[in-house]
Amino acid sequence: MSKYLCLTFDDGPNLPGDNTMNDMLDILQKHEIPASFFLIGNKITDDNKKVILRAVELGCDIQNHSWSHPFMAELTAEQIKEEYQKCDDAITELVGVRPAFFRPPYINVSETMYQNISVPFICGCGCNDWEPDKDAEYRYQHMKEATQNGVLYLLHVSEGNKATLQAVDRIVPELKAQGYEFVNLPGLFEKCGVNPHKNHALWSIVQ
Ligand SMILES: [Zn+2]
Repeated sequence: MSKYLCLTFDDGPNLPGDNTMNDMLDILQKHEIPASFFLIGNKITDDNKKVILRAVELGCDIQNHSWSHPFMAELTAEQIKEEYQKCDDAITELVGVRPAFFRPPYINVSETMYQNISVPFICGCGCNDWEPDKDAEYRYQHMKEATQNGVLYLLHVSEGNKATLQAVDRIVPELKAQGYEFVNLPGLFEKCGVNPHKNHALWSIVQ
């Protein structure tokens, strides 16, 4: 039986002078796998759009992680729609494909958000990789423990997040050797035969 996994990365693209997302693309290219990137809309600039287009060329999909990364459950319906739509428009204008998934910042969700954002919400199995004291070994071990068919890993390409680069570079060949195939997010739902449009979805494992 085929087994599928998806790496998803939040909080790109990077601020000037940082190459974390591009370094992750080097690793994905080396291991010949795609992944998914959830971008913060207001970080997209002329300077970093090249790295986003490189991700698309490597078979990655670009998804919506809001315009300015607020706690959205505290926002009004109008503010929620604006946070979603501004990011959606910025990505669509750049890559030519409208995002099909949404990751709520801080996985902070509300009924109002579900009523005003129509695409499926994505969570994921994380390894606390936003905490600087969690080293590459810790992240690798937690990813390994979460591994099962249909898992999507929640990771970050935020500025300077080198331990995640190391953990991914280490775990990918091991999981490939175990027979797992890495696919992007639309591919994960397709390969697993699951319709992502489920009421109040917050996907971490697709099955
Ligand atoms: Zn985030």
